[in-house]
Amino acid sequence: MRSAEEIRERYESIRECVGPGVTVVAATKYVSLEEMRVLAEAGIEVVGENRAQALATKQARYGAAFRWHFIGHLQSRKTALVSELCELCHSLASESAARQLSIPALVEVNLAGEETKSGIAPEELDGFLELCRQTGIEVRGLMTMPPLASDPEASRPSFRRLRELAERFNLPQLSMGTSQDYLVAAEEGATFIRVGSVLWS
Ligand SMILES: *Cc1c(COP(=O)(O)O)cnc(C)c1O
Repeated sequence: MRSAEEIRERYESIRECVGPGVTVVAATKYVSLEEMRVLAEAGIEVVGENRAQALATKQARYGAAFRWHFIGHLQSRKTALVSELCELCHSLASESAARQLSIPALVEVNLAGEETKSGIAPEELDGFLELCRQTGIEVRGLMTMPPLASDPEASRPSFRRLRELAERFNLPQLSMGTSQDYLVAAEEGATFIRVGSVLWS
């Protein structure tokens, strides 16, 4: 973990690069409870957690320091907890969660059909969004995790495709891009980037 000053410098320079239309979400899955304090000192405003249990523990101690987003696999038995603690869920991807979540959400799309990843297949998005309308959940946009690649440019087609899908369904928000490809994501219209390692390792 770097010092608060170093993290602040990195955070500010990322924000400058992506511009004011992009919210930088700090992905905190590898940040300990103690280390969260450094992020608050660094001026990080929005954090994204992957696990409901870690979210609850961190939120109990640092609730007022950040705005809280959920970015991980959402188990239906944790949906109520996530709804209570977060302002936005980036990773809505199941019918059961769509029936239980009570905060605004982005729908996770599995563009490459990867079996190891959750997410709605592009061809099933229409039906899933219709279900969301029925359950009354507020869908603000789409999220994706592209296949792992060493070249950030390899993610560009995925990001472009996600933007096109969002446009087709009139959804304004796009959560895409991590430490290695957030610049490409911003160029392709991201409104949220989710970055961890580039900030503190
Ligand atoms: C960990 C994680 C990130 C951030 O990844 P880094 O490579 O550390 O930037 C973004 N999104 C999700 C869903 C994650 O789990």
